[in-house]
Amino acid sequence: MTANTPLEARCDHCKQIRPLFLYEPDHNMHAFPVPCEWCDRDKQPLLCVRCWGKEREREENMPMSAAEEQATAFLLQAAANNSRSIARQEADKAALEGIVAATERAEVES
Ligand SMILES: [Zn+2]
Ligand SMILES: [Zn+2]
Repeated sequence: MTANTPLEARCDHCKQIRPLFLYEPDHNMHAFPVPCEWCDRDKQPLLCVRCWGKEREREENMPMSAAEEQATAFLLQAAANNSRSIARQEADKAALEGIVAATERAEVES
């Protein structure tokens, strides 16, 4: 089986036997590790084309959680404050890399 050969099985959503595609969240770019319905799933669903499209639409229309909005605003503010200081920019970059690493670790563990 290759990636180009969709698996025919029961769709996790509509329960019909259809060629299925693994759903993958499109927004794995959280500014901060936050609870997220799509990223936190143990196992992404296998969906038929129709359900896959619906799921993507739902994901795209989902507003940021309050916690994530706050974290994003905080990071943007920090970036703006740091624009005057290269040293502080470097510190910010290191902090962001730490967040990314922590997020990746969390993904591996989940
Ligand atoms: Zn379906
Ligand atoms: Zn997410």
